Amino acid sequence: MNSYDSLRIADALQEAGYKAAISMADANVVVFNTCSIREKADEKLFSDLGRARLQKLQAQIAENNFIIVVTGCVAQSQSEDIARRAPYVDIIAGPQEIHKITEDIKNFEKNNRVIRTESDAKNKFLHLTNQFFNREVSEFLTIQEGCDNFCTYCVVPYTRGREFSRDAADIITEAKRLLAMNVKEIILLGQNVNSYRGIGADGKTWDLSRLIFALADLNGLKRLRYTTSNPKDVNENIAKAHGEVDILMPFVHLPVQSGSDAVLQRMNRKYSADEYEKCIDLLRNHRSDITFSSDFIVGFPGETDEDFQKTLNLAEKIKFAQAYSFKYSPRPGTAAEKMPNQVPEEKKSERLQILQKMLNDQQSSFNNSCVGRHLNVLVTKCGRHKNQLVGRSEYSQPVAICDSYLNIGDIANVKITAAMSHSLVGVVM
Ligand code: SAH
Ligand code: SF4
Repeated sequence: MNSYDSLRIADALQEAGYKAAISMADANVVVFNTCSIREKADEKLFSDLGRARLQKLQAQIAENNFIIVVTGCVAQSQSEDIARRAPYVDIIAGPQEIHKITEDIKNFEKNNRVIRTESDAKNKFLHLTNQFFNREVSEFLTIQEGCDNFCTYCVVPYTRGREFSRDAADIITEAKRLLAMNVKEIILLGQNVNSYRGIGADGKTWDLSRLIFALADLNGLKRLRYTTSNPKDVNENIAKAHGEVDILMPFVHLPVQSGSDAVLQRMNRKYSADEYEKCIDLLRNHRSDITFSSDFIVGFPGETDEDFQKTLNLAEKIKFAQAYSFKYSPRPGTAAEKMPNQVPEEKKSERLQILQKMLNDQQSSFNNSCVGRHLNVLVTKCGRHKNQLVGRSEYSQPVAICDSYLNIGDIANVKITAAMSHSLVGVVM
């Protein structure tokens, strides 16, 4: 979502006449779009700001302008902290205020810091520029933002605000704009993309599946994906869409977080391990070749060895094509931060290592099982070697192909000849 927001900020700046700099050293304005989902992500901001400060000092000596902007979730949740620890930051704007950044930069006067932390996604979408620059073959399109679920470990409801779904007509217009720029694959984005409830083109409320059916009719669209889904919102409609819409890719990111019901309950996830497995079965019943990726958190407060074993059992049973796993990171203001029985850091590391080994092995064995098969690959960019192109399979695996006749944006039938742990190699048939 930050990638999408950054692109929309860049569009607005380019429309106002700014040009992208090659590096910060060449810039007069630097925008840090920040993430606060885990502690490491937000610590990074202050080390980056240290470098920006040095450049600002040099610019001041040379009597040049250098404006520092911080946006995103850290700007939202820690605006006062940033203002205090980094007084040289000029503009601080939360993720729902990014449509005002260009104006703020244009109007900026020395020593007149601007802090904006409203949290209404609707306004943002109404005011962001409709002029797009520099799009690639595969692009994100935010359809839903914010979150009302309040999982006890998560800052998103506090930083991105209440859940908001864009109108289907706006989404379709944006999709057409992307297709006019030669985009071939659209990834629908939302914190809870499958709880999408937007006003449809017919004035009725549409869910994600209805939106997918409408988008699938657009000329030129070759692939559709959506992320991130919450298991509690998986339903028959979306499963049917997977069965009926050819361009909807058979790869779904479905974060489980834990395989233990007790932990899931303390996380406030609103589904059990059993219900999670039922979601997987439902989707597999409608599209037999569907594959899954997931997110896991290890070391959530009170997680015992038995709880962790249940997570391993669940992963073992489902066999993920890919997965992300994280050590639980206490976030300020969340309910879990104050829970008893916080798990020691060494225990978290130990469990993470065990889980990651299993998930990496599953990814390798899925990739190995693709050797000898023919996969459709969307060519997305040039590779590092001569005549080499890189694309994505329907299951989202990166695939390197050697062929000089293909173009970026083509879909090729590729015979997979080798598998690495995170990617594939193939030849065009
Ligand atoms: N809305 C999505 C996830 C968004 S956050 C969902 O509900 O599934 C992306 C991932 O970051 C989460 O799935 C979770 O695994 C991880 N995450 C969020 N908060 C975290 C925390 N405090 N510590 C560790 N991982 C966290
Ligand atoms: Fe965070 Fe839970 Fe909302 Fe996902 S569903 S964004 S994990 S609060």
